[in-house]
Amino acid sequence: MDIARLSIREIRESLAARRYSAQELAAEALRFAQAENGRTNAYLHFSPERAMAAARRVDESLARGEEPAALAGVPVAVKDVIVTRGVRTTCGSKLLEHYVPPYDATAVERIEAAGGVILGKTNCDEFAMGSSNENSAYGPVRNPVATERVPGGSSGGSAAAVAQGTAVVALGSDTGGSVRQPASFCGVVGVTPTYGRVSRYGLTAFASSLDHIGPFGRSVADAAALLGTMAGRDVKDATSADAPVPDYAKLLDGNVKELKLGLPREYLKDLPGETGDLIGRAVQELQKLGCAVREINLPATDYAIACYYVIATAEASSNLARYDGVRYTTRAAGETLQEMYRNTRGEGFGAECKRRIMLGTYVLSHGYYDAYYLKAQKVRSLIARDFAKAFTEVDAIVAPVSPFPAFPLGEKVDDPVAMYLSDIYTITGSLAGVPCMSVPCGKTAAGLPVGMQILTRHFDEATMFRLAHAYETRAS
Ligand code: GLN
Repeated sequence: MDIARLSIREIRESLAARRYSAQELAAEALRFAQAENGRTNAYLHFSPERAMAAARRVDESLARGEEPAALAGVPVAVKDVIVTRGVRTTCGSKLLEHYVPPYDATAVERIEAAGGVILGKTNCDEFAMGSSNENSAYGPVRNPVATERVPGGSSGGSAAAVAQGTAVVALGSDTGGSVRQPASFCGVVGVTPTYGRVSRYGLTAFASSLDHIGPFGRSVADAAALLGTMAGRDVKDATSADAPVPDYAKLLDGNVKELKLGLPREYLKDLPGETGDLIGRAVQELQKLGCAVREINLPATDYAIACYYVIATAEASSNLARYDGVRYTTRAAGETLQEMYRNTRGEGFGAECKRRIMLGTYVLSHGYYDAYYLKAQKVRSLIARDFAKAFTEVDAIVAPVSPFPAFPLGEKVDDPVAMYLSDIYTITGSLAGVPCMSVPCGKTAAGLPVGMQILTRHFDEATMFRLAHAYETRAS
């Protein structure tokens, strides 16, 4: 087996044909992932016992003559902000260095119920705050395509694992772009489903009104299959939606004729050279497939970054208050409760988390709430309205993911605002809560991958996948 290139379909067919067993595949996948990890630092830790137990269950089910389940035997990597029972979950933070959760996230539970084999937990920016994976307390991840460059963030480890071939699919989390941007940088497919499509139960909260769990895959079909197994109402998350989950695989029929696509003027006007050319070429390909393309306006785009960094930091300051040295394992010394609390948080959190806690506390404080937080909420409504209006005219929006491809490690670490600007095209979709994804659309002259973003109406992941799949499998 070509372990680094396996697809979900191939694995299910091979298991059904008894070419190898799920346990053989899991053992080989673990060996390969561990051997390759030194090159990228994509995984923080592995979960061999859990993986082998899951693989054994798949083999037992096959031995009983059952059909392979949707993810039977598929090696999966999980971002370390998603809790796994009995398997350390650090959120890329020193504060949770020794935290072993007593329960599983719903997404994790559903993946294993569908036969998925969780190999380990992937590196990420601390509490998912960042765009380069350089905010991890456990060292940066290297981009497997160009190891002196960042893989993007904050789900950099998951994107790198899938690109490197050490997992077939992976889970990331996206609050303002953290699945789409690393997918674009590493040349894989990354999906941010509709807000509420996938239960957030067990996803460590960063900014709850923006947090999503999203899948990575090397193909649209694989990412869609992973979403299909996780999606749907969960009584443990009141914001999870009770919307029917279609069988995405059946809808990848290649037919996108007459689909109406919108190109946002605001996104394209300042798009630099190579990225702009690649997106332009991808749009021409979509036209060749029969799509009708027109320009649209998303006028509130200019305010998106400011709006996001008020709302996300406000929510983060509240969510991160729970790491107080009393719960969640890590505690620093201190004579008084105050001192212990201050020392724990002072030593435990990295610079970016501290920056956000301070900013968030500030915008929520008396006298500033109306000026910042409330204002940002109003701007968020305007952004959502822009999308709602656009979707009365078009079926999907096509846009860049990031203004630039993967940048060198260290290039933006000292300039948080430059780092924040990486998310200029991804944040709007997150604020509107619409489904969006990154699909690879070529490489720069230096060989760096670039992703195209596709956004559709709330809960219309099916159209998004159909379009991305038609593009991915086009005859060129
Ligand atoms: N880069 C953005 C941030 O730092 C988005 C992060 C995310 O989506 N988790 O907030």
